[in-house]
Amino acid sequence: MLVLRNRMLASLVLPPPSPLLCKPTTFGFCLPTLLSHSTRRRNPTQNASSASKTTQSPPMADAARFVRTVLFVPPGVEPDEVTDEMVLPGSNIVVGPYAGDARIREVEFMKSSPRAKDCPKDGRPEFAILGRSNVGKSSLINALVRKKEVALTSKKPGKTQLINHFLVNKSWYIVDLPGYGFAKAPDAAQMNWSAFTKGYFLNRDTLVAVLLLIDASVPPQKIDLDCANWLGRNNIPMTFVFTKCDKMKASKGKRPDENIRDFQQLIKQNYRQHPAWIMTSSVTGLGRDELLRHMSQLRNYWDQ
Ligand code: GDP
Repeated sequence: MLVLRNRMLASLVLPPPSPLLCKPTTFGFCLPTLLSHSTRRRNPTQNASSASKTTQSPPMADAARFVRTVLFVPPGVEPDEVTDEMVLPGSNIVVGPYAGDARIREVEFMKSSPRAKDCPKDGRPEFAILGRSNVGKSSLINALVRKKEVALTSKKPGKTQLINHFLVNKSWYIVDLPGYGFAKAPDAAQMNWSAFTKGYFLNRDTLVAVLLLIDASVPPQKIDLDCANWLGRNNIPMTFVFTKCDKMKASKGKRPDENIRDFQQLIKQNYRQHPAWIMTSSVTGLGRDELLRHMSQLRNYWDQ
């Protein structure tokens, strides 16, 4: 597990990447022009159009370093081999050789656990889903598994402070964790939540990654940044899942892609490699299949 975390995770407290010649994408990060060079190598039809760019491109080592700082490059992929087509739409996630069958055929509720040590001990890999209350966690879980009732379990009285395991395809778990930052909860309740959930993260060997849900329809929230930084400091693998990306700009607010860019800016100085991130909407289905594909590559690598 430690090996996995060391290989797949960002290290903290490094200077931001040096600026390089790059082409901006819709989602606020840049792919160096050398990516076009890589694409050309694999796709002869693009040779002519981008040939002139290579003369202005940075050395390959710089481009590879740049890709590593912006994109999530999974095991089995060399940064200088990444092409535009390998990046999942609406994300910074590169799809590598470990990506496989992402379909969810069956889901069953397994158990609710009051502590990490009460969780299932069968060794199956799991993804923990975490986020502020009202971030859209239940909606996302329902959208992923395409069932209306599954995630509602955690909202039933008495289950809000429990770790809820759902077995997928009899082989891996989705874990629904309590939402944090209840506006009306007394401080003491929030403190208990922290100790409880931190215990889970620090002691759960079968945790492949945390899906940290961030509401893209509002500006970056301190509590989300604190949570992301705590996970990062503790080397817990994480993917930022931006929710509600279908929402239109509010009268004074920013668009989801602008909020996402602001969030990335606040996070990026803490990471050598930016964690994986993806845009989703439970209303339109945006990002659903891409997120499941990403989870398949993390899971399959974990299984090795
Ligand atoms: P939870 O408390 O994190 O489980 O959040 P819910 O899944 O219950 O969602 C909270 C509110 O946000 C509900 O009113 C949902 O209808 C709404 N919501 C959730 N996901 C989306 C989304 O992708 N787009 C939009 N527009 N609304 C959403």
